[in-house]
Amino acid sequence: MRALFIHGEKDLRIGEKPKPEPTADEYLLKVASVLVCGSDLHYYMEGKLGTRVVEQPQVPGHEIAAWIWDDRAPELGLKKGQLVAVEPSRFCGECHYCKTGIPNLCTNIKFQGSPPNPGAFAEYITAPKEAIFAVPDHFTPEMTAALEPIGIGVHALKKADLQLADSVAILGAGPIGLVLLQLVRAHGAGKIYCVDPIEYRAKKAKELGADKVGASYEEIVEWTDGKGCDLVIEATTSPNAFVESVAVVKAAGRIVLVGIPTGVNYSEMNAMPFRSKEPTVKICNRMGEVFPEAIELVLRGHIDIEALITHRGTLDDAIEIFDRQGEHKDGALKSAIYPNGIPE
Ligand SMILES: [Zn+2]
Ligand SMILES: [Zn+2]
Repeated sequence: MRALFIHGEKDLRIGEKPKPEPTADEYLLKVASVLVCGSDLHYYMEGKLGTRVVEQPQVPGHEIAAWIWDDRAPELGLKKGQLVAVEPSRFCGECHYCKTGIPNLCTNIKFQGSPPNPGAFAEYITAPKEAIFAVPDHFTPEMTAALEPIGIGVHALKKADLQLADSVAILGAGPIGLVLLQLVRAHGAGKIYCVDPIEYRAKKAKELGADKVGASYEEIVEWTDGKGCDLVIEATTSPNAFVESVAVVKAAGRIVLVGIPTGVNYSEMNAMPFRSKEPTVKICNRMGEVFPEAIELVLRGHIDIEALITHRGTLDDAIEIFDRQGEHKDGALKSAIYPNGIPE
């Protein structure tokens, strides 16, 4: 079957690999749509994500909608051909963290699309039953694949302790920042300030309900007369993001760090303002078991995911799609790739 491989920095190729054979506790899935994530782009643009380096040709992709393509589908209460969402994390279920309800910190986790585990930019994948989530009939492949990044937002917001009418600063208006913007609105936030140096992204934040948008965190300092916001959500790729978060948080406020810095594996911190404001800081690693909540939020119309999907194509368009999204060209926010062709 055909699949997309990252061979190293800026080296993406279409190749062949054997169609996967499900083991006794796995099911065969035909991939409907996979969205291109910022983390896929880290692997593509840098050949690595933090300390995880592409050493062998790596199939990326973890935001997955697929059709269950296995004759054993009825074992799951599903019809063959039914659209499902696929959780990309394979939790061990045995370690301390799995057993205490924080499986995203599983010490034996295998994450689809993170080296060396193959991802979903391929015609077929397999998954165990715990990773397969049925979706409502009217969900499209794109809405279904988007449940994963929405889940990242749900996980982040659960850490945020957002109170009614809290002022919120969102640093970064990429797909995750824009999901979080919609979630904090649904959650009863007060004023929402969102900044991103890329103009079309900031504009999208305005369309999706941010009160004020701009290019730099310094504008938030200005808009709040130096007082800052109750809650800061950081969803950038900047190594300076932690310093910026501290600059825009109110004293005794909260900061949730979601972004992954580009180019380096550290975030800067300036100790004195950090100490003098005494903020609570939380950091996110992927997500817990939040697919049911993500489905509920889409079902209730709290998230407009289609507003974020700007480009579509097949595996043959993948290089163009990765370049466009990675270089922030043509208004690209999020792209959907259809490994088995775009359905009519
Ligand atoms: Zn992702
Ligand atoms: Zn575990």
